[in-house]
Amino acid sequence: MIIRKSQAELEKMRRAGLLVYQILHRMKEMVQVGVTTLDLEMEAERMIREAGAKPAFKGYYSPAAGTKFPFVLCTSVNEEVVHGMPSAKRQLKSGDIVSIDTGVQLDGYYGDSALTVAVGEVSDEVKRLLKVTEESLELGIRQMVAGNRLFDVCGAVERHVTANGFSVVREFVGHGIGTSLHEEPQVPNYVDKRNENPRLKEGIVLAIEPMVNAGRPDTKVLSDRWTAVTKDGSYAAHFEHVVAVTSNGPWVLTRP
Ligand code: MG
Ligand code: MG
Repeated sequence: MIIRKSQAELEKMRRAGLLVYQILHRMKEMVQVGVTTLDLEMEAERMIREAGAKPAFKGYYSPAAGTKFPFVLCTSVNEEVVHGMPSAKRQLKSGDIVSIDTGVQLDGYYGDSALTVAVGEVSDEVKRLLKVTEESLELGIRQMVAGNRLFDVCGAVERHVTANGFSVVREFVGHGIGTSLHEEPQVPNYVDKRNENPRLKEGIVLAIEPMVNAGRPDTKVLSDRWTAVTKDGSYAAHFEHVVAVTSNGPWVLTRP
């Protein structure tokens, strides 16, 4: 069942969303050659606690992993797609890309957002990967209009990615969000005809999160049981926003 949110609930989700935005904005400023992914983690956790919020990911139990995620951030470097773990040993170097994903719970409601940042000098092809992934998210956001259907969102993302010669990850998807981090429906980054295609109505809130591989779409999970990487070792990018369907069109809750 898709849970639609009232205006009062959207206002609460907005506060959670803006905190997530502030954290990711700070992370973007911090990313440079020599910084470790654990440096990012420590600053993000400080900001979450200072805001009186709870981290959404730290302590999150995944049945697939069989453990609780131990960090407030997912930091996924280069061929890591999602769910990478911050580490003092992972020092960023020029030419890397790092995807930073975080979520918070504030006043009972969740925010969730991600972006991918280039470190130092990256190749033109890597720049294009980041640009196309971010554009695909914007195209998905534009479809968050009452009367459209879920597949309009999924298809807009998929078409832009594939038209540019990249591939969308199939094993991980976006999601509804509200008083739970993950609610119905699933939001794949491609049209999955096995799924239902519900009509988008006012008050529906989705976390749209294209995960895009420069090479083949296939992924595998490392022995830590969390970190997903591309099977072919190609780089992957990830951008995410929480978006509400409103009478005024799409409202992106995770940016000002
Ligand atoms: Mg996320
Ligand atoms: Mg998410």
